[in-house]
Amino acid sequence: MTRTTLTPNHKPTLDAIAWMEKLAATLSSDTPAQAALLFEQDGYWRDLVAFTWNIKTLAGRTAISDMIVATMPTATPSNWRIDEDATETDGVIEAWFTFETREAKGRGYLRLREGLAWTFLTTMTELKDYPEKRNKLRPKGAEHGANKNRQTWLEKRQHEQATLGYSEQPYCLIIGGGQGGIGLGARLRQLEVPTIIIDALPKPGDTWRNRYKSLSLHDPIWYDHMPIFHFPKTGRYSPPRTRSVIG
Ligand SMILES: Cc1cc2nc3c(=O)[nH]c(=O)nc-3n(C[C@H](O)[C@H](O)[C@H](O)COP(=O)(O)OP(=O)(O)OC[C@H]3O[C@@H](n4cnc5c(N)ncnc54)[C@H](O)[C@@H]3O)c2cc1C
Repeated sequence: MTRTTLTPNHKPTLDAIAWMEKLAATLSSDTPAQAALLFEQDGYWRDLVAFTWNIKTLAGRTAISDMIVATMPTATPSNWRIDEDATETDGVIEAWFTFETREAKGRGYLRLREGLAWTFLTTMTELKDYPEKRNKLRPKGAEHGANKNRQTWLEKRQHEQATLGYSEQPYCLIIGGGQGGIGLGARLRQLEVPTIIIDALPKPGDTWRNRYKSLSLHDPIWYDHMPIFHFPKTGRYSPPRTRSVIG
C-alpha cells in the first residue's frame, strides 16, 4: 500500500512534508509540547491506540499539549513520512503518512489549513515485536518427516475447543460476539493470545440474523470486510445480513 515515490515539486505534498518535518523535530526536542503550536487553536488530534493506548480525541492546543507531555517520553516517535502525494481542495491540504513509536508502526491522516493542522489522526497498525502472521510469516501448516502421533488441523482445533475455558484458561475474555468482538478475537488469535468470546445469543452472527428479513449492509462491500476474513471479490455490493457476520 505504501507508495515510495512522491511527485517532485508537488506543492501540497511539499507543504505536508514541511509540516511533518517541523512536527518530528519538535516532538524529539527538549520542548515537545511546543508541537501543539503546529495545530490550529481549536485543532484536533485523534489517536487510535498509537500514543495513548486508547481511543482519544484531543480537542484544542491545551489538550494536545497535555497528551504530548504524557505520552511522548515513552512513545518516542520517529520515521514520520508522507507516503502518498497530498491533495488540496478549497485551501485544505490532506495527506496520508506513516510513523513509528518505540513499540509499534502506525499510519495516519493530516489535514492542514494555512500551515496549521486542523485534524491529525494517528492509528497503530502493528506491534513491532508481534507482527501478524500473514503473507511470508503465515504458519507453515504442513509438517514433514515421520511422526505417527501428528495431529491434523481438525484434531488440534477439537482439542482447543475441549480444553480452552475448561482445563486451560484464556488470557482474554470478550463479552459480546458481534462484528467488533469477532474481529478482535481474530486479531488476538493471530497474536497467539488465548481468547474466548461469549455472547448472550446462541450463535455468532445471531445479532444480525435476528433482524428483519431483508436487511443488508448500507455501505458498499469494500468498507464492510471483517479483519483477516474478507468478503469474496464476487460478493454483492450490499452484503445481505446472513453474510455480514460469519453468515
Ligand atoms: C440496519 C443496520 C445497518 C447497518 N449497516 C452498516 C453498514 O453498512 N456498514 C457498517 O460498517 N456498519 C453498519 N451498521 C452498523 C454496524 O452494524 C454496527 O456498528 C456494528 O454491528 C457494531 O458492532 P459491535 O460488535 O460493536 O456490536 P453488535 O453488533 O451490536 O454486537 C454486540 C454483541 O454483544 C452481545 N451482547 C450484548 N450484551 C451482552 C451481554 N451482557 N452478555 C453477552 N453478550 C452480550 C449481543 O448479543 C451482540 O451479539 C449497521 C447497523 C444497522 C442496525
